[in-house]
Amino acid sequence: MADRDGKIWMDGEMVDWRDAKIHVLSHTLHYGCGAFEGVRAYNTEAGTAIFRLKEHTDRLFNSAKILRMAIPFSKEEVNEAQKAVVRANKLESCYLRPLTWYGSEKLGVSPKGNRVHLMVAAWAWGAYLGEEGLKRGIRVKTSSYTRHHVNITMTQAKAVSNYSNSILANMEALDDGYDEALLLDASGFVSEGAGENIFVVKDGKIYTPDLSAGALNGITRNTVFHICADLGLEIVQKRITRDEIYIADEAFFTGTAAEVTPIRELDRVQIGAGARGPITEKIQSAFFDIVNGRNPKYADWLTRV
Ligand code: PMP
Repeated sequence: MADRDGKIWMDGEMVDWRDAKIHVLSHTLHYGCGAFEGVRAYNTEAGTAIFRLKEHTDRLFNSAKILRMAIPFSKEEVNEAQKAVVRANKLESCYLRPLTWYGSEKLGVSPKGNRVHLMVAAWAWGAYLGEEGLKRGIRVKTSSYTRHHVNITMTQAKAVSNYSNSILANMEALDDGYDEALLLDASGFVSEGAGENIFVVKDGKIYTPDLSAGALNGITRNTVFHICADLGLEIVQKRITRDEIYIADEAFFTGTAAEVTPIRELDRVQIGAGARGPITEKIQSAFFDIVNGRNPKYADWLTRV
């Protein structure tokens, strides 16, 4: 991240952006055992508010539990840290990144004996897959890389090390002229994007892979479940093949960073009309109403900073 003014919460203290440093012998830097979150705060009419803060903090603690890391702070402290970082950086809307990692007390695969650290940073971050992508849809490539098998790495943890697989897939897709990668599981069924869950629309019904395909239990994915219930749209979680996406009416990615991004092409095959579909547009618009505080039903999902 570029050099800048600002504050980062690190191990219980608010430190200057430029001083938030770690040692090169940090265990996580060498072996990749760490967990993180991606959270967004929106500039709602009632003021800046973090979307589904509780669920993100719960997932961070679950990720740490799966990795057998003991976070030395309570969930309340981690929630307060996130609110404090948004305030300290005077951000109206932003992306937040909590991360927990092992210190540099000792190397060797066993992390025992290393201190567990936690930091929270925040910065302004617009549409992850581009404003244009939100409106027109993006072009996606089925990756030559397989998504993690559920017993190779722990797919319900938002673990640092899981992302080398995402990075390979994303780089391959970008180098080949696409916007993002779609990964299949070890059996060849659709899993998820490099940093997004996937949904398809066919004959008015919505389909998404069940989590046994190694997809992360996305908080935006869950938000879409609520939106579909409100809109009277049926959602089916099932195994999905890549060719079901080719012949779908619509498809879209979801994620905290990606929000609700339509997919207009997979592997150069046009999906539906090759534009943001009408059902995707409805879901996207309901999503932006909720995160921006325009739907009172979900006011509890917004935590004022
Ligand atoms: N899958 C992966 C691999 C991700 O990195 C993300 C982003 N956290 C998601 C799915 C979507 O999860 P969420 O909606 O909770 O951001």
